[in-house]
Amino acid sequence: MKKYKNLCLKLTPQRLAILEYLEGNTDHPSASDIYNAVCKRFPTMSFATVYNTLKALKGKASIQELTIDPDKKRFDPNTVHHHHLICTECRKIIDIETEFELDLPELQKHGFEITGNHIDFYGVCPECAGLALQEYGGQLH
Ligand SMILES: [Zn+2]
Ligand SMILES: [Zn+2]
Repeated sequence: MKKYKNLCLKLTPQRLAILEYLEGNTDHPSASDIYNAVCKRFPTMSFATVYNTLKALKGKASIQELTIDPDKKRFDPNTVHHHHLICTECRKIIDIETEFELDLPELQKHGFEITGNHIDFYGVCPECAGLALQEYGGQLH
């Protein structure tokens, strides 16, 4: 734990660049997205630096790890409670900041006192839908 604390306080320029990239980022980037972006400024940076920084941030609850993309973990610097809208085609993730009145039927609560929920909405985004339409049109001709 002590080691972890020291790790967190040590803000190297590379770590700062990672934090800067994440600040206000609504793309829900994967570790490799972050690596590719920050690498442009710090070509010597290793993937382990990104990975360890994300791990440290997660430990501090400064970042959420999302498991909605089966291909890769995505990271969300928005730690305010919100829901997600996910495009099943391009895996774009959009923040939904509306509260939903949801309640589990008493039998389904299994004795839990429910304190929160997180909803993932799935669909096809307008860009992907437009693309699909074009492809379909192309096939007809
Ligand atoms: Zn899409
Ligand atoms: Zn989000």
